[in-house]
Amino acid sequence: MQTWIPPERQLANLTWKQVDALDKQKTLLILPTAAIEQHGHHLPIATDTLINNLLLGHAFRHIPAAAPIYAMPAVCYGKSNEHIGFAGTMSVSAATFMAVLRDLGASVHASGFHKLVLYNTHGGNTALDDVMARDLRAEFGLRTFYLSGGAGAEYPGLSAQERAFGFHANEWETAVLLAATPELVHPDEYTVNYIADIRQPSLLKPEFAPATFAWLTRDIAPSGVMGDPRPATAENGRLWIQAAALKVAEALLAMLEFEEFGKP
Ligand SMILES: [Zn+2]
Repeated sequence: MQTWIPPERQLANLTWKQVDALDKQKTLLILPTAAIEQHGHHLPIATDTLINNLLLGHAFRHIPAAAPIYAMPAVCYGKSNEHIGFAGTMSVSAATFMAVLRDLGASVHASGFHKLVLYNTHGGNTALDDVMARDLRAEFGLRTFYLSGGAGAEYPGLSAQERAFGFHANEWETAVLLAATPELVHPDEYTVNYIADIRQPSLLKPEFAPATFAWLTRDIAPSGVMGDPRPATAENGRLWIQAAALKVAEALLAMLEFEEFGKP
């Protein structure tokens, strides 16, 4: 798989002596969490993992060379049981996923580091990353953070319908991969499923609502797509990658500068 993260920002390229020599109190480590799971008929199963690496890689372009921020190798396998039944979905259980994050947090702590951000690009991991950010803070005293996707970036040109109900193999993900890895996108295989219509909002929604229902992809999207990839363009993808990268960089720099309450 391709990487966009500059070699000098990859922790795994260092020797243990080089890692040991880092300013461990100040350095911010990033642990990416993503997924290997079905993304419709038109996107690769690595989509969430590619997007994680891509946004992080572009974010590093906005981070000063002297800022001590390093990316750890990603936890590519996530909790994807909502997509089980679609070939290529490789899921780990919530217990396994949390145990891996716990053990990696223990290793970060044992290596002497203090600051760790879980950077997530798969919705199925969100609740688990949130729990683990707090648990690693409680168990090891790590200064942990959680960061997701485009860090709240705005995406001009995305329709209201897609914004509300396009959340998997949708226009946004398709455009981003059309810009970054067009050879992995199959526009002749686009399918469309919307789980609701913005003109007829229902009380119960699958996500992003006070009242939700626990969904499995096969309940709501026969092809595995939730959204409409057809309007996706590489041009918008490039704009949206830039928008997300800037926000991710700003968030990482804020975490780097973050001081505990009461400390100088
Ligand atoms: Zn995805």
